[in-house]
Amino acid sequence: MKLFTVGEEVDHRSGDRGCPECVEGYPEPCRCGGWMHAASSGEPDADGTIPLVTACDACGRSEDMLDEV
Ligand SMILES: [Zn+2]
Ligand SMILES: [Zn+2]
Repeated sequence: MKLFTVGEEVDHRSGDRGCPECVEGYPEPCRCGGWMHAASSGEPDADGTIPLVTACDACGRSEDMLDEV
């Protein structure tokens, strides 16, 4: 088991779909076959939405990067 960093959090578990550091609902399957981890990246905005930073444990891309393809 290998740790990797998502945003400010350094304790995400690479390849673990039950990663305890992820926010609720993550990890999600990445299209590369890895897991997309997510960490909150700050305080909720006026709508109560918590900004997320995402990173795949296999390809290293974020959801935003995948959306652009
Ligand atoms: Zn995670
Ligand atoms: Zn990926």
